[in-house]
Amino acid sequence: MSSGPEKLIDGKAVAETIFSEVAAGVSDFSRSRRPPFLAVVIAGEDPASQAYVKSKVTAAARCGIGSTLIELPATVEAAYLRDRLDRLNADPGIDGILVQMPLPPHIDQQKIIESISPDKDVDGLHPYNLGRLASDKPRFIPCTPLGILELLARYGARTEGRRVVVVGRSILVGKPVALLLSRKHGSGNATVTICHSSTRDLGLVTREADILIVAIGKAHAIGGDMIGGGAVVIDVGMNRVPDASAKKGYRLTGDVDFESAYPMVSLITPVPGGVGPMTVAMLMRNTLQAARWAHGVRDDG
Ligand code: NAP
Repeated sequence: MSSGPEKLIDGKAVAETIFSEVAAGVSDFSRSRRPPFLAVVIAGEDPASQAYVKSKVTAAARCGIGSTLIELPATVEAAYLRDRLDRLNADPGIDGILVQMPLPPHIDQQKIIESISPDKDVDGLHPYNLGRLASDKPRFIPCTPLGILELLARYGARTEGRRVVVVGRSILVGKPVALLLSRKHGSGNATVTICHSSTRDLGLVTREADILIVAIGKAHAIGGDMIGGGAVVIDVGMNRVPDASAKKGYRLTGDVDFESAYPMVSLITPVPGGVGPMTVAMLMRNTLQAARWAHGVRDDG
């Protein structure tokens, strides 16, 4: 077990490396074709969602990926949004489409996800792409789970044969990361347990984890007493907690109580600066991949 700052998984630094790799790939791709292009759609003015889409558009520019931000009012009708997506699906100049979640409550999110062409679904959330992942033939993989795998790999956290506990079973994070880590082929080959709000004696399960992935959306829900010595902890949570000393009146914090967890772990992601930047980096990688596939570029070149 290591100690000191080397226990921190620096997601921001890894994301920077990936941005450079994607930029190089984009430059190579664009030598004989137009650059990859991403359409980002947002409905409403939720400040957190606004910040996320801005970071995605900025990242695209840094990678040389073209992008458009389509901003719709919170009152937008579902039929209008679906029609807008139909046009983006049919537009040969668009490689990837991302609809920022959550959508306003009157819109059925699942129906909107299913309105995106699976070939442009760079978020990997369309049932076709999730089904491919479940069938062990992944195409687009959801960005946050992909980012988690990348962090584990780049920090040398072995997964094969190890006990992974995932807390949270969302389609966005928990389920796909569990599927990825339990694959026989590729990275993974771990023994994976999924926990949720009905799991009895959660701490008993989480303490057994060599790798503990937490995605529940509850600030500091997992304390050091729920972590086994030497575990690798990936904290996906992104919670806003009031903080009068902060300029914005709040600060971001994870699902893991960092202070009590830190002495227990061998590696841990901070919040912010852990998983978050990786989600954006993987979106860029998926968008480049979408463009390559759309142009018939083979995976090996
Ligand atoms: P979600 O759809 O709300 O799912 C939460 C999951 O956690 C559910 O499966 C729920 O169980 C489980 N859960 C809730 N409370 C629990 C508890 N006390 N003990 C055990 N399990 C519990 O959330 P999500 O979309 O996966 O997001 C989770 C967190 O990750 C949020 O803070 C979100 O903002 C963050 N996030 C961050 C990124 C990033 O890029 N960093 C990306 C995506 C999400 P049930 O199924 O039984 O209800």
